[in-house]
Amino acid sequence: MKFIVCVKQVPGSNEVRLDPETHAIIRDAHAAVINPLDYVALDCAVKLKRRNGGEIIALSMGIPATERLLRDACARGADRAMLLTDRAFAGSDTLATSYALSLGIEKEGSCDLILCGKNAIDGDTAQIGPELAATLGYNLITDVTEVIDIDKKFITAVKTTDSGSETVKAALPAVITLLNGREMPALPTVSGVRYSLEAPVDKYTAAELGADTSRTGFAGSPTSVVKTFVSENTRECRDMGLDAAAAAAFLIDEIRKAGGAQ
Ligand code: FAD
Repeated sequence: MKFIVCVKQVPGSNEVRLDPETHAIIRDAHAAVINPLDYVALDCAVKLKRRNGGEIIALSMGIPATERLLRDACARGADRAMLLTDRAFAGSDTLATSYALSLGIEKEGSCDLILCGKNAIDGDTAQIGPELAATLGYNLITDVTEVIDIDKKFITAVKTTDSGSETVKAALPAVITLLNGREMPALPTVSGVRYSLEAPVDKYTAAELGADTSRTGFAGSPTSVVKTFVSENTRECRDMGLDAAAAAAFLIDEIRKAGGAQ
């Protein structure tokens, strides 16, 4: 079976820096990490490969330095990686991103299962998985917490719903988006790290993918970020040193003064 895991580079610190003009994230390769839920997706693929055999390919659209993170994915169980990297992809919104990723997947020919994190911690739209399924015409299961079974034709998975969870069966090829399951993703092994140094990471430009560049990057993005700002905390905090009864009396008094209660 062929598993493709979509891996996104996200900022490694709490500080997300934005370009003041384009409002795009400034990608700092040294501080970047793999999106946390993509580790979960990769770990899921490794377990499925262990049960069913096959091959795992880590796929990313990003700056050239994303190669370091794809090698990390190889240290954690991917057999090889694909990096879609070109100035023509810069500024992509989710539609343009899923178009580029779908071209990378089509370059692979046939594929049984695409695994994505549910959402990325920076853009956080949770749209890429569903858009990939729509673009490729694959079935989709979102919010997966466990894959119960997969064979050459079907996948059966447990997904979270608003009221709990349900078990869903879909025909392959399919896209699944993953949430945290019960287990922590496995750490890289020493042999995995050694393998990752030499693992094949194939790089593709927009032209090599046969991309229509009116559908990539800023040009192909119907959504644009118009304004960004850092919210400021202007509240003041006072330690009153009161016991519970005095604190309650104080609060009631303050609310009355503010006209909130009679
Ligand atoms: P999600 O859909 O949250 O990611 C889910 C999964 O998709 C990931 O876990 C991963 O498996 C996969 N994935 C996502 N990106 C990649 C990638 N490059 N390579 C491989 N796998 C990937 N775009 C919009 O269309 N609308 C907006 O309103 C919007 N607002 C934004 C606001 C800000 C502040 C910023 C910085 C960006 C915004 N974007 C928006 C752009 C958006 O971040 C990018 O399109 C991004 O490439 C994908 O979106 P996401 O992070 O929301 O992905």
